[in-house]
Order: sequence, then C-alpha cells, then structure tokens
Amino acid sequence: MSPSRETFGNIPHGGIVFFYWLTVVSIAAFTYGIWRRFQLWKKGLPIGVRAFIAGRLTEIWSRLRPRLARLLTEGLGQKRVTGRGLAGWSHIALFAGFMILFLGTTMLELDHLASGISQALKFHKGTYYVIYEFTLDIFGLIFLAGCLYFLWRRTRRPRSLGHRATDWYVLGSFLAIGLTGYIVEGLRIVWQHPTGIAAHCSPIGLVISGWLSGLTDAGARSMHRAVWWIHAVLVFGFIVSVPYTRLLHLITGPLNIFFAPGGLGRMVPLSMEEVEKTERIGVSAIDQFNQQQLLSLDACMECGRCEEACPAFATDKPLSPKKVVQDLKGHMTRILNQNGLLTSTKENQSIGCTQEPALHGGVIQAETLWSCTACSACVRVCPVRIDPLTLLTDMRRNRVGEGTLSGTAATALRRMQSSGNPWGLPAADRAVWAEGLEVPLAKEKSDFDILYWVGCAGSYDRRAQRVSRAMVKLLKLAKVNFAILGREEKCTGDSPRRLGDEFLFQELAQVNIETMAKYNVRKILTQCPHCLNSLLKDYVQFGGHYEVLHHTQFLEQLLAEGRLEVEAPGPQTEPITYHDPCYLARVNGIHQAPRNVLTASHTSSTSGLDLREMPRNREKTFCCGAGGGRMWMEEDPKKRVCTQRSAEALSTGAKTIAVGCPFCLTMMSDGVATQNESARVLDLAEILAERLRL
Ligand code: SF4
Ligand code: SF4
Repeated sequence: MSPSRETFGNIPHGGIVFFYWLTVVSIAAFTYGIWRRFQLWKKGLPIGVRAFIAGRLTEIWSRLRPRLARLLTEGLGQKRVTGRGLAGWSHIALFAGFMILFLGTTMLELDHLASGISQALKFHKGTYYVIYEFTLDIFGLIFLAGCLYFLWRRTRRPRSLGHRATDWYVLGSFLAIGLTGYIVEGLRIVWQHPTGIAAHCSPIGLVISGWLSGLTDAGARSMHRAVWWIHAVLVFGFIVSVPYTRLLHLITGPLNIFFAPGGLGRMVPLSMEEVEKTERIGVSAIDQFNQQQLLSLDACMECGRCEEACPAFATDKPLSPKKVVQDLKGHMTRILNQNGLLTSTKENQSIGCTQEPALHGGVIQAETLWSCTACSACVRVCPVRIDPLTLLTDMRRNRVGEGTLSGTAATALRRMQSSGNPWGLPAADRAVWAEGLEVPLAKEKSDFDILYWVGCAGSYDRRAQRVSRAMVKLLKLAKVNFAILGREEKCTGDSPRRLGDEFLFQELAQVNIETMAKYNVRKILTQCPHCLNSLLKDYVQFGGHYEVLHHTQFLEQLLAEGRLEVEAPGPQTEPITYHDPCYLARVNGIHQAPRNVLTASHTSSTSGLDLREMPRNREKTFCCGAGGGRMWMEEDPKKRVCTQRSAEALSTGAKTIAVGCPFCLTMMSDGVATQNESARVLDLAEILAERLRL
C-alpha cells in the first residue's frame, strides 16, 4: 500500500469544524492587527505607489526587478542576516525551519481540501509523502536548534539586544509548537502502526513513538487528540500574536526590504515648491516621514546590529540608531492608541493629543540628532534595510530650517554660504597652495582631460594642502593633462546637505555644476571621499553627470599603466595600517585601490610592505568622527570618535597610518596626538610621492 496518512486522522468531525472556526478567528485577529499598522503607515507622506503602477510596463519592470531580487536574496535568502557568527546562522535555521513547516502545513491543508472534493485528487501519498515527512522532520530539528539558541542568548541578555516580556512568549511558543509537533507524530505512529518506509520517513517521530510504545492504541489515540489540540492552539496563538509582538517583522521585514530605496550615500532632494506648499522643511512630526519610513519603524526587531556599529554610540554620545527607531515607533504607536488611528498632526493637536511629547526635544533630543556622523554603518548592517540615518537627516532639515542650529556648525554653514568654504577664507586664496607648482587653471587651459577637484580642505587646510601638492607632483610626473578650477571651485555642499541645510547645498551644487558645464567637464579626480560622493550621487539629481574617481583609483591606474614607476624592490617598511574612510569604502565600495597603491608604493610585490589591517576594515570600517558635518562641531575630548579609531590603528603596531580623506587626515592626526604617540598619519598620495622622492 502507498504510504500516506489522513490530515485530520483521529480528530472527530466536530473537532475539525471547531478547528476551522478557530482558523477563521485567528486569521481575522491577525488581519485586523496588520490592518491597524497599515493604517498607521498610510498616514505618512505618499511614496508614489499609484503613479508607479500607472507607469509604463517596461518602467515598472525595471524598477520592480531589483526590488524582487532583494526580496529573494535578502528576504528569502537571508543575505544580510549572516556575518554575526552563531546568531546569524541561528536566525537562518529558525527562518528556514519556520518556512518549511509553514509550507508543509499549507500543503497539508491543500491536500485536505483536494481530497475533500475527490479522493482521486489526494496527493499526500507515495513518494511525495515520504519526501514530505522526512523533510519536515529534519527542518523541525533545525527550527528547534535555532529556537534553543535564541532562548539561551536571551538568558545572556546581550547589551545591544532589545528585551521584552513577549520575547519569552514568542520563543517559548515556538519551542512548544516544535516539540508538540514531534509528540503528535510519535503518538500517531503508535496508534497507526505504519511499517517500513511509511514509518522510517519520520525518523524523529519514530524515535518518540519508541518512547511511547507502552501505550495502548486507545490510550495513544486519546493522548494524540489532546496533544494535537495543544499544538493547534499554540499555532493559533502564534498567528494572532504576529502583529502585536516582535514577530511583526515577519511581515514588515520583507515589505521594507522591498520598498526601501537601495544604495548608500543618496539623499532625497527637497524643492522650494514643496516647502511653499507644505509650509515646512524636513520632519517636525511623525506623519511627515514618508510611508516607507513609517513601515520601516515596524520592521525593527531590535537586533542591535546598528547600535554595535554606530561610532556615536561607541563613544558614549546620546545616540543609538536602534533607540531612535524604537522611540519613533513608540511615538507612532502611542498616538495611535490615544486617538484611534493617527489623524494629521494638526488634528492631533486640536483633538488634545497632549500627553504625547513633541517629536523634537521630546521624543528625539537635539544632542541625539547632532551626534550622527552620517557614516552609514547602521544602514549597511540592518538586516531589513532600515535607514536611521535618513530619519535623522530628515529631522535635521527641520531643525536647520527652523534656525535652531547654533554654535560652530552654524558658523561653518554661514561661511560656506558667504565664502564657499567652511573657514570663511577668501575665494582668491583658494589656489594659494599651488603657488610655484604651475598648476593649470581650467579657464586658461580648455583642453584638459580631467578636472582635479581639490576640495575645501585640500585648498585651505595647511595639512591637507600638502596632499594637494603631492598629488600635483604625481600628476605632472605621469604627464596627466589636468586642470583645477581655482577660485571658481566652491564647497561641494556635502557638509551642509548632511547637516540638513538642503538649500545651501543646492545653491553650492548649482554654482559648481554651472562652472563645470562652462568647461565641459566630464571626468573628475578628487582626494576627498565626501566630494566624490557628492559629485557622483548628489549632483546627478541636479543635472551634473560626471565620471568621478578617487585619487587612489586614479593613482592605481597610473601605476598599472606604467605612467608612474616605482623602483623595485623598496626597503622593508615600518608597520603600516590603512584606515578606510566611510564615504570611500562603505558608501562607495572603493577599498582595494588604496591598498593597491600602498602595495605598489613599496615594491612591485608585497614583500617590502608590512601592512597591518585593523579589525574593522573595508566596508566594515569605523568612522573617524568627521562626517555628517561633525567636522565643524565641538566634541567632548573624552568622547572623541577619532581617539577610539586611532587607538585601534595603533594597536596593530603600525608606525604609519595611511588615509585617503582630508577629514580622516585631521581626525586621525588628532587622535594619535591625544595618545602621545609618534605614529605618522599620511595620505596615500604623500606616501607614493615620498617613495618616488618627489
Ligand atoms: S534598525 Fe535594523 S539593525 Fe537596528 S535594531 Fe532595528 S533591525 Fe536591528
Ligand atoms: S549613520 Fe553612523 S553615526 Fe549616524 S546613527 Fe548611523 S551608525 Fe550612528
């Protein structure tokens, strides 16, 4: 006889009816819970779903394809969950077990419906049955292993992990569902007496049936029925609890992975028309975030990865990206509870939503907002693509618009507006660093191949000027046909944009784009990763399309082409480490070129180079503390990010710290000095120029 089993075997007809009744009730409770959250997300600013659906098919598909790919790799494939040791693998085990058990239960139900129509339609038998039972048995174990790990981990209470009483219920019920599932199977084998492959295809169930073999058939049947109901009630409890516990991320996680905008280092532009229409800049109330951002708040499962990666949190600043997300989620939910479903902010005020503190100053403190270095570490590590950085910069826009930013950062913004650089130095002095080097200016040399974008630091900061001079010497040695803009160059506007002054950024970008259009600039070389990101990802939003290369990429090319030649072999170097700038390595994925330049700077092979990598390198690099406009802010000397990062660099035993960013150059030099260490901090261009005795 073909191996098989009845779906509701041993359950009387009345019990089956009651089971379906409970199914309807629990699905209704689940749907209501999700619907309530959905109503909440809907109150955010529209994300253009309707316009998207109404678009051309080819357009829809081109935008849909990468999102579906993300859903497959990051949702189903759990790609972003790995990289955290056993915790990552346990989540994959729990997820894989859950998905297979869920799929198995659905197939069982389909078989029941099909065989209800006609026994000929029953497919839960034969080879399919054997594979089904075996697969579910094994994945049940995988599911339980994941579950046990998370229960154990929760008893250890890691600092970064969120803790709620319901977490115990969730994990406990998972464990109970898995265990009762196996007991039900064991009891079924006891009273059903399957033999051969029909019994052995459920190896775990068979083992359990051995433990219960002392039961009579009648006793096994009664017990089977009782445990079956316990199992069913636990499953219904699980379904109902999804919208009300951390399990919500089962729904919101994949949704956010799908709807979140992809890529790091991009910001949504703000238009003056929008500001005039809405009479506000940025976000001053929860419903001024967009719908995807509100959804993302509900996707957070408090895993703490963002907090562990955050340089502000690591240096005891009052900022944890996880807490920002949770505080905003709590704020959104409390408004829901007070007013039924969230109405508009004005309505909230008019209907007396007074218990709930204001977003700015109440839910999110100013110190929290301004502590962010915009390093994108939190965004990169979040398994469900939550973007705390954009939540913060959207709120920053409002604070700057309201004129509440004061101190050194506000002064830097004023100077950028009046003089085109954060130091407020005259435009006429912008190319003073180049005196004696005969650096061609774009206005005097129209046929240049590449524009050398020096940046504010490279132009005005004494230390960074040495990098610019080294670069020019290298370019000249390689006979590169280049030019600079000189006094026509202005700050790219990276700092104002990340600080929240969108219109100052747009003003600066507009002027720079016009200047570059005048000289038909297509290819740009820059030593500043912040300028690189802005020219590449910000300017494109305003019509500036350029090929932008970091100086390490360009130097790597010149070395590979033999236009710069290093005599080999070089002397054995003192230990050296390389600090990856966030906006180069993490945000723009450029981390091999700097290492190649370093290698080539010493010998034609790695033999003369003693490169010591820091534990946090490449995309996982740790910020120097200067991004997001923090360069222009005061920092408590005891809590400086650069102190922590330079300590990490020095702990490798390095005597030289190589960098590829003028901000990092300043910060790492400060950090080394604070620790009374004598290690040299050098830009890669300086190291190469030194090696070439320029
Ligand atoms: S925001 Fe993302 S990384 Fe941070 S705690 Fe929530 S889920 Fe984890
Ligand atoms: S961008 Fe960096 S500093 Fe800002 S919250 Fe995220 S991890 Fe922290």
